[in-house]
Formats: sequence, structure tokens, C-alpha cells
Amino acid sequence: MRSITVFCGSNVGASPQYAEDAKALGREIARRGIRLVYGGSAKGLMGVIADSALAEGGEVIGIITRLLHDLGHLQPGLSACETLPDMRSRKARMSELADGFIALPGGLGTFEEVLEAMTLTQLGEHQKGVACLNTANFFAPLRSVFAHAVREGFMRAEHSQMLIVEETPGALLDALGQWQAPVVNKWIEPARH
Ligand code: AMP
Repeated sequence: MRSITVFCGSNVGASPQYAEDAKALGREIARRGIRLVYGGSAKGLMGVIADSALAEGGEVIGIITRLLHDLGHLQPGLSACETLPDMRSRKARMSELADGFIALPGGLGTFEEVLEAMTLTQLGEHQKGVACLNTANFFAPLRSVFAHAVREGFMRAEHSQMLIVEETPGALLDALGQWQAPVVNKWIEPARH
């Protein structure tokens, strides 16, 4: 892994543990000499992880939209920054620059990015792993939703298990580096009723 795109909240969350884990992940990414690509904002966990990777001498690339840039959200001191016209083109660029993806806790924006990255792997548009740092078991409900979709015949277990879930940055980066996409057809043969 030479370049990882991180999705995470533009808020810091209710517990200081979220920011502590974001800092630890930023440090570990920089120490491993991996380039950090992210939303370019100084807000929430995004600003926290960018700060910690930069402080450790890491390379941090921000990919931000024109609107958020003009609202003054851009993190100062980034290694490089690209401003794209909208969220869609920005996500495509963040994906292009990634060897794999990591999610920290977040809200709608984070969930949407995680699900899109997994969907593109499921369809074979790319073969990139998606890993989440499971601070305070934040991602347990998302895994429950996946398990529900598997039980109800809308998703293969192999695809639900694509989401790598780890408790520490070191284990997360190791698992993402070793991950291989499942070779399984997305479409499930319907049971006859
Ligand atoms: P949310 O989880 O709803 O806070 O949204 C965070 C995710 O959406 C991040 O991973 C970003 O890629 C994107 N995003 C949301 N707000 C911003 C912002 N102010 N600046 C840059 N990206 C943002």
C-alpha cells in the first residue's frame, strides 16, 4: 500500500476516543511511509488525522470541493490539494488515488463513501479493500445491517465480509495490505417458492 484514502467524520464525535484513534491512525500511516488522501477539510476527525500525519512528516493530499474550499474548510499546511467541482468528481479522484480505503467513524458522508467503495469492488470496477477502525465498536450496527441483507438473500456473505474491521491502526493497515477481493458472482440464484 503506497496511498490510502481515508473517509471520516467532519465532526469529532461524542467521545474523545474518536480523535485519539484518528491521531494514532494518522501517525501510523505516516510512519509506514504511506500517502494519506482525504477530504481536505480541517473539520472534525478529518482535521485531526491530517494534523497527526503531517506532524509525523507524512505526505497528506486533500481533495476538496469548490464549495467547501470557498467556505474556508481547507486544512492549512497540506502537502498538496486539489479542488474539484462537486462531491461526485471529488470521490472519483479520491478513489483513483487510493490503493485501499480506510473509514473512521462519521456520519452520512462517511457511510456513503464506504458503501460506494465496497459496491465498486463488488461489481469488479476496482479491487480495492475497505477497512474501518472500530473505535468504541462504532461499526457494529453497519455489520448488523449487512448480516440482515445476507439473511434476506440480497447480499452474499463473502461481500458482507469484505469490510475489514480492526481495533488498532497497526492491525488495520496490515489487514488492508494483505486483503484480496472475493471471487464470487454478485447475483444469487433465486430459491424457487
Ligand atoms: P460526514 O461523515 O457526514 O461528516 O462526512 C464526512 C465525509 O464526507 C468525509 O470523508 C469527506 O470526504 C466528506 N465531507 C463531508 N464534509 C466535508 C467537508 N466539510 N470538507 C470536506 N469533505 C467533507
